[in-house]
Amino acid sequence: MGALRNFVSEVLEMEGSAVEAVEPDGLEVLAPEPLRALMGWPELVRLGFGAELPAGATAVGFEGDWLDRFGALLGDRGRWAERKFVLPGPPPRIHDPARLLDHAIEFPNAVWRLQEVSAAWTRCLLLAFRYTAVSDEKREGLVWLGFNQGTGAVINGFAPRLRSLLAADAQWQVPDPEVRRAAGSAWDASVLDGRVRALINHSLRNEVEPFLRTMRRRLDRDRNRIHQYHSDLHLLAQKKLAALAGSTGEKAENDRKREMLRIAAIEREYAAKLGDLCHNYALRVSVDWVQGLELFVPVQRFQVLVKRRKGEKLMRLDWHPAVRLMEPPPSDWGLGIGRSRLVCDDQLHITDPAGQSPCPSCGRAWCRACHPTACRRCGHSIS
Ligand SMILES: [Zn+2]
Ligand SMILES: [Zn+2]
Repeated sequence: MGALRNFVSEVLEMEGSAVEAVEPDGLEVLAPEPLRALMGWPELVRLGFGAELPAGATAVGFEGDWLDRFGALLGDRGRWAERKFVLPGPPPRIHDPARLLDHAIEFPNAVWRLQEVSAAWTRCLLLAFRYTAVSDEKREGLVWLGFNQGTGAVINGFAPRLRSLLAADAQWQVPDPEVRRAAGSAWDASVLDGRVRALINHSLRNEVEPFLRTMRRRLDRDRNRIHQYHSDLHLLAQKKLAALAGSTGEKAENDRKREMLRIAAIEREYAAKLGDLCHNYALRVSVDWVQGLELFVPVQRFQVLVKRRKGEKLMRLDWHPAVRLMEPPPSDWGLGIGRSRLVCDDQLHITDPAGQSPCPSCGRAWCRACHPTACRRCGHSIS
C-alpha cells in the first residue's frame, strides 16, 4: 500500500495540507478549508492504508471511490507534459547502417537505397489510455501508444523501455527552444485522431484477449449446462409422449396435451435462458485518454530512397540511441507495425501489406491509401 500512501500524501501536500506519516502505514493530515469541506474531513484527520489502522484512522484503499476523489483533486494537472530525453553518454556509433536498415525493413515489391544518416531531434508522443471491459466480470487497465511525429512511425514496440528509462532518471529536463525547433512541428489534432483511432482498437483487442478467452470459456460452460438440463427435460417429455402414442380415450388425450404443453414450455424456457446468457456476457468496453508525454529524443535519422517501377520516393526513419533500436518503417495506410511494407504504383504510397491486398469480391489488388473506401474496379466497399 506504500505507493497509494505516497500518492495521497503528495496530492494533499499540493493542496496545501500539512502531512505527517504515522504508524502503522498511515498519514495524519491537517487540511485547509476548501479541501476539508470537499473531502468531508475535520481539520485534523488520520488516514490508514494498511490492514492494520492507526488509532482513530479512516481506511483508504483502492476499493470504493477514494481514487476518484483524489483524482478529482488533481483535475487536469499531470495529464500532459513535455520532456527532453538526455542520453547518459555520447551517442553510440552505428557501424553498418545499411545492414541495420536491412534487418529493420522489408519491401517485397520495391527496392531501396540508403542515402544519408545524420543526427537529429525528433518528437515522440507517448499516450496512455485507461480502458474498462465489462461483461459478467470486469477488467480495467492501461494501454500505451507511442508515435514518432518526425517520421510517422509507430514506436509501441519499444515505448515501454523508453518509459522505464525516463522513470529511472529523476532529473526532468524541459526541451529548450533549439531542440523544439530541430524536432519539427507536432501533428495536428486530425492526424493524431486518425492514427490513435486505428491503433487503439488493435492494442485494446490484444490487451483484452486473455479476458475474452476466459469469458468465452465461462460462457461455453454455462451454455452447455443449460443445454444439457433442458435437453434432458425435453427428452423425458418426448418419451412420455411417445409412450402415449398407442393409447386412446379422454385421459390419454389429456395426457398428450399436457406433455405437448410441457415440451413447448421447456423450449420457451431454454430460449429465455440463452437470452439471459447473451445479456450477462455482452462485452462493453470504454476507453479514455488519461495521460500524454511529448518526448524530445535525439535520434539518427535515415533517409532512404524507395523505388517502385519508374517512381521513387524519399522515406525517413529513425534509429533510437536511447534503446539502440530502429523503429518500424512509416505507413500511409494500416497500423504501421511490423517491418514489411508494400509500395503502390500510382502514388507510391507505402502501406502495410494488407493495404495492397486483392479485393475479396473481384480479386484485383488495389491501394487502400489511394482508394480508402471501396475497390476501384468493382465498387466493393471496405466495412
Ligand atoms: Zn473489387
Ligand atoms: Zn496508393
